[in-house]
Parts: sequence; structure tokens; C-alpha cells
Amino acid sequence: MDHSGEKGNLSQVQHVVLVLSGKGGVGKSTLTTELALALRHAGKTVGILDVDLCGPSIPRMLGADQQVVHQCDAGWVPVYTDTQKSLALMSIGFLLESPDEAVVWRGPKKTALIGQFVSDVAWGELDFLLVDTPPGTSDEHLAVVENLRKHKVDGAILVTTPQAVSTGDVRREITFCKKIGLRILGIVENMSGFVCPHCSECSNIFSKGGGEELAKLTGSPFLGCVPLDPQLTASIEEGKDFMQAFPESSTFSSIN
Ligand code: ADP
Repeated sequence: MDHSGEKGNLSQVQHVVLVLSGKGGVGKSTLTTELALALRHAGKTVGILDVDLCGPSIPRMLGADQQVVHQCDAGWVPVYTDTQKSLALMSIGFLLESPDEAVVWRGPKKTALIGQFVSDVAWGELDFLLVDTPPGTSDEHLAVVENLRKHKVDGAILVTTPQAVSTGDVRREITFCKKIGLRILGIVENMSGFVCPHCSECSNIFSKGGGEELAKLTGSPFLGCVPLDPQLTASIEEGKDFMQAFPESSTFSSIN
């Protein structure tokens, strides 16, 4: 998609992808982070816009939680995680005075900030902009979709865990996407089995296959499974690049 004729700070962004989940805690921010890192390893330039205003976890997951954003003539300068500037981040986490500060805002204030995030961040040239959203379908989702409409969002990746309680919520997410005309790029089943750190065997503690079944039922593409992997948890906790820290991990290939 060529946006070069457009004005604005997203004019040099080639693809915009939203990451959605029905429930919190299913690994949406984790997979957004790992997808961004996998794209960067593939030589792409990537941005993450974190619109989970009440629970911004992207800065910490990428070891950038001590950073702050600065202003330039073109708007907010995103935080870069590397000197090559291949991974750019914008999150309310960079604007809060302390990580413990609670964002207790009503809808209009959230909508206004998301509008600013979409129009006022100087992303520069990016191959992909990934948008990490809060769980469910709330003001933030509507605000981001409305503000991004003229930039033709490529679509949404939906994250679920294998159990019916999570896939049930993703069904609602699918209905939401259809209602607002957002293309579903596919469903990812996260926490799909547990990889033993000792013998590398995978046990299906949360059952398996719910995501794939849901994809079939709803006619959505199934993008694959990512197991519950303690090495991935550790990388996320420490803000490290999982693929660099554990290049031999089999989870690496499922993310890739
Ligand atoms: P969400 O964004 O859906 O609320 P998070 O991405 O914050 O969920 O993930 C919740 C917790 O689960 C985090 O501590 C994260 O490290 C962990 N986690 C998510 N996916 C995996 C996985 N596949 N393997 C191991 N830990 C995971």
C-alpha cells in the first residue's frame, strides 16, 4: 500500500495491523512485541503504537520503560529501542510521571489522546505499524479505527488462548470487526501447550485447538499456535529480545 501522496505522520507507513483479544492476559502485548521483533529480525522497520491506555505494558516488555518521548517540529518523536532506529514505540507509559500512576479517564479523554497518537507521532518510514489494543471492544478500539480510517488499516490479528472462555470472547471480537468493516488477518492461539524447560516436551495444560476450531467456524485464517514457554516469560519480564536470548528455542519458529 503506498501512502506517499498522503499528508501526515503516517504517510510513510506501509502497513497498519491491529492486534486484538477478547480477554486480558491472553498474551496480546507479548505477541505484539514478539511479532515486532520477528519483523525486525526479517529486516523490516517496525513501530508499535500502544493504545492500551490503562495497562500500557509494551515499554516494559521491550526494556524501554525508563525512556521518555520528546517533541520535534513534526510532533512526538517515538522511543527507539535500537541505534538503527528499526523499532519505534509510542505508549502512554512514556508520558506518565511514574509507572504506578493510574490512568482513570473517561471515554472522550481517551479518544482525544488516541487521536493525537495517530496524527502527532513522527514515525517516519515504517514497513509495519502494529497497534496493541486493550482487551475487548471499547472506546480505544473505536477511536483508533476511526482515526486510522483514512490510512486504510490492513486488518486485525486476533489472539486467543485455547479454552472456550477465551475463544467465546474472540467470537465477539470477530463480530466487532465485521460491524466496523475491519478485515480479519487471522487468529493466533497463544499458550497452546506448555514447553517443559527440562525435556522440551509440550503438554496441553489448557487444552489445544480452540483457536483453530474458531478460525474454521468463523471462516477466518488460522495463523498458528504459540506454546506457553517459561523462556518467553523470562524475556518479557526482563525486557529482552527473546529470539536473541534463546535462538535455539522451538517457540521462536512458531512466532516466526
Ligand atoms: P495481554 O496483553 O493479553 O493482557 P500479556 O501479553 O501482558 O497479555 O501476557 C500476560 C502474561 O503472560 C505476561 O507475563 C507474559 O509474559 C505471559 N505470556 C504471554 N504469552 C506467553 C507465552 N506464550 N509463554 C509464556 N508466557 C507468556
